[in-house]
Amino acid sequence: MTDETAPHILVVEDEPAQMELISYNLEAQGFQITQADNGEDGLMQVEEILPDLIVLDWMLPGVSGIEVCRQIKRQKNTRKVPVIMLTARGEEADRIRGLDTGADDYLVKPYSINELIARVRALLRRTRPGSIGEILTFDDLTLDSEQHKVTRNGKTIKLGPTEFRLLTTFMESPKRVWSRDRLLDRVWGVDADVDYRTVDVHIGRLRKALKQPEMPDPIRTVRGTGYSLDTE
Ligand code: CA
Repeated sequence: MTDETAPHILVVEDEPAQMELISYNLEAQGFQITQADNGEDGLMQVEEILPDLIVLDWMLPGVSGIEVCRQIKRQKNTRKVPVIMLTARGEEADRIRGLDTGADDYLVKPYSINELIARVRALLRRTRPGSIGEILTFDDLTLDSEQHKVTRNGKTIKLGPTEFRLLTTFMESPKRVWSRDRLLDRVWGVDADVDYRTVDVHIGRLRKALKQPEMPDPIRTVRGTGYSLDTE
């Protein structure tokens, strides 16, 4: 079963055998995969699902991988999404290094699938550290996603699965303001049939669980927008 909140990776690749290989292996790592076999569709999917990472082939029919990457890195809402570019030849690799595409990393074909997985995990460590077992800290809070353990001020906090995912999301991006929509996508999954009230209920439970005497509420309500992890 795929975890709805596992990192979502968009693979843009026109060669079916390559697509199959990449998707199969990344899925086996527990990631959610969306596929696009051309640049236009790739750009559409980026807007639609706002993936956590993009594996992007350089040689695509129509809009090239470079152009796709440039467009992703130009848009305010997508420019932080890490991109791994796949290239066919050494020459292309040299050009990619010289070009200002904004790609975060690149691999030259033929590459080993383990190398791709390692690069994917390295980039996610920066952007979704909780999803790949890193220990997160913020202020007096510590969250160990591998051991499923949360402490505040050294004391163990018991959380339900939804509250745990909420806190992981907050701790991956402290002080970032999350709209209820984005929280729904991230914590419940893009296809979940839940409403804003559900978000508020679980935020309430999280607050209650984190509460300690004389300590500030670490969850800030941003009126008209959503919530953030912030003790200011
Ligand atoms: Ca290709």
